[in-house]
Amino acid sequence: MAHSADPRYASPLAEELAEDVLERFLRYVVIDTQSDPSSTTYPSTAKQLDLSRLLADELRELGLEDVELTDPGYVFATVPGNVADAPTVGLIAHVDTAPSAPGTGVAPIVHRDWDGEPITLPGDPTQVLDPADMPALAEKVGHDLVTSDGTTLLGADDKAGVAQIVTAAVRLLRDDAPRATARIAFTVDEEVGRGTDHFDLEAFGADFAYTLDGSGVGELESETFSAHEAVLTIDGVGVHPGVAKGRMVNALKLMADVIAALPRDTLSPETTEGREGFVHPERLAGSASKATLHLIVRDHDDAKLEEHVDLLRRTVAEVLDREPRASYSLRIENQYRNMRGVLDRHPEIVEAAEEAIRRAGVEPVHTIVRGGTDGARLTEKGLPTPNLFTGGQHYHSVREWASVQDMAAAAATAVELIRVWGERPRAS
Ligand SMILES: [Zn+2]
Repeated sequence: MAHSADPRYASPLAEELAEDVLERFLRYVVIDTQSDPSSTTYPSTAKQLDLSRLLADELRELGLEDVELTDPGYVFATVPGNVADAPTVGLIAHVDTAPSAPGTGVAPIVHRDWDGEPITLPGDPTQVLDPADMPALAEKVGHDLVTSDGTTLLGADDKAGVAQIVTAAVRLLRDDAPRATARIAFTVDEEVGRGTDHFDLEAFGADFAYTLDGSGVGELESETFSAHEAVLTIDGVGVHPGVAKGRMVNALKLMADVIAALPRDTLSPETTEGREGFVHPERLAGSASKATLHLIVRDHDDAKLEEHVDLLRRTVAEVLDREPRASYSLRIENQYRNMRGVLDRHPEIVEAAEEAIRRAGVEPVHTIVRGGTDGARLTEKGLPTPNLFTGGQHYHSVREWASVQDMAAAAATAVELIRVWGERPRAS
């Protein structure tokens, strides 16, 4: 690996791409694309398409082929390969930003050559990025950092990924090195869990894909949770409280009993880490006569996931069998599956990503996701899709930040990935 003139960069290619990634990133983050979980439209907010339309126009101008803004709001495009037998490789990022922090009026700030001192965000001086509390930040002394002004999220999740894919596409188009065909997709509504609801795998036409939606430099994610959602509805007996003696059955009290009977010291997000799963009461609504509880059930292991569901069923039954005058329903729905089972059958997909990360000058770091990705759903639908880092950190928060040098390393990784696949004939 040739070393970069500027030691902050992982490789000469990363250094070459850095200003292009940053310029695109700064233009994309100021466009408000926040998604909305309570909306019933698709995409959940029309403003996401402001960026999708801009990206489609930009990709056409840059000379990509088959550029299309699809009906559901995805941007598809092609960087044609130059090797006959190479596979078609998908590169995917999402345009929307999380609803958990304000997303309107993003004013990004570039902190050049960060000196390692705490960064006070000027729009809300109570928001301080202190390397003493943020170990990932402490490693970036000397980097060029991007933050918001403290009143909004930054939107590196996932506009860093969008900017990196566009930058990589531009670089690949003027490259003579062998390369595979890259199929690009920019999706909507990832943050509200609907990112691939209308994703047409056949129209996309990739053999496999990679999302650029991860975080710290070098991270490669090929393992997510398997996930169920559970909805428990309890119907009590509603009576005017003045004349309720011996007749009222309070649904809220029964629901409280169910929640109290669930595990706390184990099988809870607040008491587990790594590969430990959980049963998590997430949202509660109701009245004395009727109450509804939304839970999520998670594990990396599908068999254990079913055990957690059985535990939930038994707990609910034990509590509610004591009160025959109440009735209840417990509905369980599959949300997504751990992608690892599929990826283990196609080890070359993850292995090529490791190779690309190394060529970009970074050591790959395997991390397991305690959550899902668009790639988990795509993998389940038949498009194996591990997740790659983007260099953004502290997502879904007004203290979100990104390193320009790490974002550049991610763009370089995307370029190298398409080159790696250009050197490998399609598996027969
Ligand atoms: Zn994301």
